[in-house]
Amino acid sequence: MAVSFRWLKKWVVKILGNLKSGRVLLSIAALAVAFVIGIVVSQAWSSDSSDDTPASSAGPSEADSEPTSSPSEPDDESSSTDPATTPEATPASGSSDGSTPGNPPDNADPVPTPAPVFLVLDQEPQTYQEALEDAARLSLDIVWPSGCMSPLPYPDLMPNAPRAYRSGIHQGVDFQCFARGHPAVAALDGRAVLVVGNYEDPDSDKRDLLLDVAAQLDATPPYTLLTLYGNYVVIDHGVVPDVGHVITVYAHLESVDPDIRVGEAVQAGQTVGEIGNRGTHAAANGDFYTDPHLHWELHIDNQYLGAGLSAEETRYVYTTLFAETS
Ligand SMILES: [Zn+2]
Repeated sequence: MAVSFRWLKKWVVKILGNLKSGRVLLSIAALAVAFVIGIVVSQAWSSDSSDDTPASSAGPSEADSEPTSSPSEPDDESSSTDPATTPEATPASGSSDGSTPGNPPDNADPVPTPAPVFLVLDQEPQTYQEALEDAARLSLDIVWPSGCMSPLPYPDLMPNAPRAYRSGIHQGVDFQCFARGHPAVAALDGRAVLVVGNYEDPDSDKRDLLLDVAAQLDATPPYTLLTLYGNYVVIDHGVVPDVGHVITVYAHLESVDPDIRVGEAVQAGQTVGEIGNRGTHAAANGDFYTDPHLHWELHIDNQYLGAGLSAEETRYVYTTLFAETS
């Protein structure tokens, strides 16, 4: 501002000098020009919001303020949310905080909570009706995975039965065989996706250490559960129309059939392996003959069939699955 007035003053002095020297017309024209320039300069200064800022620093301060405000929006979201949730959180925040696009968010507003992204494993359990319908659909094709004793009348051999020794819940069906030598067979057509055929049981002390951790957690850690399966096979049956993605698990095998290999197709009724007791308490004590049974699971969209249902509902669902009328 001071610079501008000095400049105007200089012009006025010069013009007054001209007046003294008699160049009147030229001086009047110059005065008019100086007046117009003065108005333009004063309007430009009055429209500038940073009146208190020295003229020399007005440009840089404006440039500084934009980079600090514009990136703060994505930075705030990425630092407070999981990267996977950001794409979903971004439109939600734009609509909920009412801020104009491009403007920095109002710091007074709380950061919007992103919609949680659940893993498939954390999805809501099926309702009884849904489980029944899926069981009825699958029963059209399913083969009993074992010819050993039917577990259906025994809640403790069915899904949802407590398994206190590992601080967990039973996810499958136990076919008690009472002797070795019985085959486990594939329940549906599919493809082997996981094959463990060379399992070595830990000694009972080491097994107990794993179970101690489960007790501390009051839940069976997923990989501890897998090691308690002994030799086991997982078969992927693909997406069954009107049901979902179906897999089955065959556990506690004494051995896996050599034709069962990862990636290879498996036919319903094909032998998966010999039923044994690998992974059990008896096997950890070196006894491979006590309590041979097939632990069999059926999962739909990564949840075992009947999850969360009562014992009675579970029995009906599996009775439907195996098309038993009893
Ligand atoms: Zn079991």
